[in-house]
Amino acid sequence: MGKGFFQVPVAVNEPVKGYAPGSPEREAVLKQYKAYFNGSVDVPLYIGSEEIRTGTTQNMTPPHDHQHVVGQYHLAEKKHAEQAIASCLEARKAWSQMPWEQRAAIFLRAAELLAGPYRAKINAATMIAQSKTIHQAEIDAACELIDFLRFNVEYMSQIYTEQPDSSEGIWNRVEYRPLEGFVYAITPFNFTAIAANLPASAAMMGNVVVWKPSDSQVFSAKVIMDVFKEAGVPDGVINLVCGDPVMITETVLASPDFSGLHFTGSTFVFKEIWKKIGKNIHNYKTYPRIVGETGGKDFIIAHPSANSKQVATGITRGAFEFQGQKCSAASRVYLPESIADEVLGYVREDVKSFKMGSPEDMSNFITAVIHEGSFDKLAKYIDQAKADADADIIVGGGYDKSKGYFIEPTVILTKDPKYTTMCTELFGPVVTVYVYKDKDWADTLKLVDGTSEYALTGAVFSTDRYAVTEATKALENCAGNFYVNDKPTGAVVGQQPFGGARASGTNDKAGSAQNLLRWVSPRLIKETFVSPEDYRYPFLGE
Ligand code: NAD
Repeated sequence: MGKGFFQVPVAVNEPVKGYAPGSPEREAVLKQYKAYFNGSVDVPLYIGSEEIRTGTTQNMTPPHDHQHVVGQYHLAEKKHAEQAIASCLEARKAWSQMPWEQRAAIFLRAAELLAGPYRAKINAATMIAQSKTIHQAEIDAACELIDFLRFNVEYMSQIYTEQPDSSEGIWNRVEYRPLEGFVYAITPFNFTAIAANLPASAAMMGNVVVWKPSDSQVFSAKVIMDVFKEAGVPDGVINLVCGDPVMITETVLASPDFSGLHFTGSTFVFKEIWKKIGKNIHNYKTYPRIVGETGGKDFIIAHPSANSKQVATGITRGAFEFQGQKCSAASRVYLPESIADEVLGYVREDVKSFKMGSPEDMSNFITAVIHEGSFDKLAKYIDQAKADADADIIVGGGYDKSKGYFIEPTVILTKDPKYTTMCTELFGPVVTVYVYKDKDWADTLKLVDGTSEYALTGAVFSTDRYAVTEATKALENCAGNFYVNDKPTGAVVGQQPFGGARASGTNDKAGSAQNLLRWVSPRLIKETFVSPEDYRYPFLGE
């Protein structure tokens, strides 16, 4: 359809702004924060060209100030989920035929809008909705999202370039068709970038999408929809539906046109959805693609040769930034006896220096956890550790939900390597440490491998190359993203494609061509220039 082999702009990572006192970006984001915080946003359902206000609403409140209402969003009924599917299928007629360079231009424009006029908005919305510090908002809602959009455009063009050979007299061509039907994107609360990328990556490849965001992220999801609209994503290509996740999901999965799930969230929910897809499999027109990135119980293991200060920094940043609510956050740590006291001394010092409070006060390193359910769960595990004989809280352990859902960054020291908080994903600012005898290094690697059902991220700290080699081999299957002498968080699009295996997901690596390939169904076209006119092959000759 095109009239040229177009080259897309070379993707580069969006530089992270510093937000130092007196900087223009700090002033802009604080101004926007105040405007949002003191205003009231009304978020409709976005279905086709319509903004639907059902009248049944849910308040939106910042986790760090849960009695303060910043707006409300409208809840869908079953008929709205059905309407979203119909709107997808209508939009598909034109969108699936849209030349790829036009789709690329729309999403590149979205990236530029986020880098410029929408930067303060998407960051301020993420600070309010998900209680991120400005740095955490900037690396997620601005930079990672911009990177997803730019790099995915580049990967899309690489995919289209991938073509088969052709022998003499014929021409083989592959078309990377969007899936026949629609894609269902279900997104988590913890990354604005993921919330936008799950619908956008499928749409970029020519698909139409029903997008159900997390209840706790709707405030920033609204800004994403504003960006998509201004960038030129046509009506009906991405339909935003909020409300009861079970009802919406069951309605969507009942459609024969359901052709793909792009999910990020917890393991249990993903497995339940997979089961439902399996039950409905006879109803679908095509086998649905199932992509899910799920939970983690991410580890740091230090070798006796490790630098104690570096290990401590890996723990404090890896476990506590964004209150440990990253799927990649370090939550179980294995320290050798010879350096454990020194490492934990540094960690204690770091944690004691953290300030906790609202993200509006930019001197705070720690803010609130996402909602009351999460707060109560974390408080329960902290109380249990206080009571259990085989666990000690060596720093933190306090919590208070009177104004916001604040949990003190907490380090639990356990004598039991299979202690409950060494195995279970808590998704909060709680890390558990087990100290092993230096001579048990090799056995401890086995312990790391066998302790958790997850396999998302993990890190080894060592200055001994033999130990690094041994750990890399022994831990081959327990992390999809494995770090050497670095914290296990902070994957950058275009540099560290992200995803894990085992109970952590299908490992389709967000921010890579591998992920985009899940949203296309290749059609091979073979053309013969001069067709044979006799069925007889030479071997049939007399
Ligand atoms: P969650 O599973 O509670 O929710 C995720 C989404 O699923 C939300 O939109 C929610 O409304 C929806 N949902 C919940 N119950 C559902 C049901 N029964 N049927 C259909 N949909 C349902 O997860 P969360 O609290 O938003 O996010 C945290 C989880 O996400 C953690 O487990 C974390 O490890 C994981 N996560 C993983 C990655 C990754 O790349 N592996 C990235 C981010 C988050």
